[in-house]
Amino acid sequence: MELSRTKSAELYEISKTFFPGGVNSPVRAFRSVGGTPLFIDKGEGAYIWDADGNKYLDFCCSWGPLISGHRNPAVESAIFKTMQNGFTFGAPTKAENELANLIITNHKYLDKIRFTSSGTEAVMSALRLARGYTGKDKIVKFEGCYHGHLDYLLVKAGSGLATSGVGTSAGIPKSAAEETLVLPLDDESAVEKVFRDFGDQIAAIIIEPIPANNGLLIQRKEYLEFLRSICDKYNALLIFDEVISGFRVGFEGASELYGIKPDILTFGKIVGGGLPVGAFGANNEIMSKIAPDGDVYQAGTLSGNPLAMRAGAAQLECCLKENFYSVLEAKTKVFTDKLNRGITESGLPVKVFQMASIFWISFSAQSHIRKASDIKPEGAQLFKLWHRNLLNKGLYLGPSGFEVGFVSMAHSRESLDSAADIMLEELKKLPF
Ligand code: PLP
Repeated sequence: MELSRTKSAELYEISKTFFPGGVNSPVRAFRSVGGTPLFIDKGEGAYIWDADGNKYLDFCCSWGPLISGHRNPAVESAIFKTMQNGFTFGAPTKAENELANLIITNHKYLDKIRFTSSGTEAVMSALRLARGYTGKDKIVKFEGCYHGHLDYLLVKAGSGLATSGVGTSAGIPKSAAEETLVLPLDDESAVEKVFRDFGDQIAAIIIEPIPANNGLLIQRKEYLEFLRSICDKYNALLIFDEVISGFRVGFEGASELYGIKPDILTFGKIVGGGLPVGAFGANNEIMSKIAPDGDVYQAGTLSGNPLAMRAGAAQLECCLKENFYSVLEAKTKVFTDKLNRGITESGLPVKVFQMASIFWISFSAQSHIRKASDIKPEGAQLFKLWHRNLLNKGLYLGPSGFEVGFVSMAHSRESLDSAADIMLEELKKLPF
């Protein structure tokens, strides 16, 4: 049975008169799955309610920040308390010290950090820092990794033998795209070749160490170690973009999980507890290049905003509690194991990939998918049908088959168990 979404549909008609596509970030427009985007009224714990009063178990979690679910009481009370003293000053506050202290004292690869207001800003600043530090211009990135909407990284591989990238959006200057070398993931020889050809011009490799923006492309540890060693060989910096994996797969993210020290780390999402915060950090020597100590300019009117800092600190304090990550991972694994068992028993050409509390459903039975080109495009049609049917059963996944799902501390084992039953039931109905 179709749930009524008349109120969402009315709001969407109005929003289309205000915003391109009716939205303030493209994927929200539901173009990949069709139908009316849900307009959300409220969230509580693991659930959201749309404008028509329909309730959904939320596996999107605002695309990752809500690792403790909606309205985490600790975050909420930190915001209320802080706002009584004013919202922003454009001058230093103790709140910045406190969040930085929480991060730096619990992260072995960071001496200094700088806060921004989004992940994109953090990545953009990290690239400038890498270039300022090395005195080189080119950046290596990988097909299948997303790093925000900055010119240098909205770039895909050029055709044929061309190594330089081409913009994936109109408005990307050719000169910016040409500074980006785009390679497939999981391919050491492609990286070796590009360093042989351009090693003296490459400032940095940037990678999502757990690529989670184009499916969940879990990399081999040896491959990430190889990236570390080739950067050392050619005096390039290794940037781990941990906007998703940071504070998600463990407090110290993927660098701790794989035991690999990147030169620069970028963060977003969880670090702001649901308010807009990004950050980048490195050791003292690299960070000393940032203005006003150094000559790499970087700034922000709302950077270090006190409400956002206190929300982030309250969230990270929850994350630092004993067993936070092991409990979250264990319940996610019970859920994804149940899905995979049911899929195997029914002989469906589907596989669920999982890393800590992140999961992704691949509409192919391949046991490893490590690069973007291994994802079968036919899966998109099946995902579209499945997504619509799940909405009607009260389950909300991000509206694209390339997006991962997130489990939060607020998801109960019972809710996950019944979600797995519904997901399996709906998978079995699809026209494979
Ligand atoms: N880097 C990664 C790995 C991301 O997943 C994202 C956003 O999803 C970004 C950077 C950009 O962050 P924001 O959307 O906060 O600008």
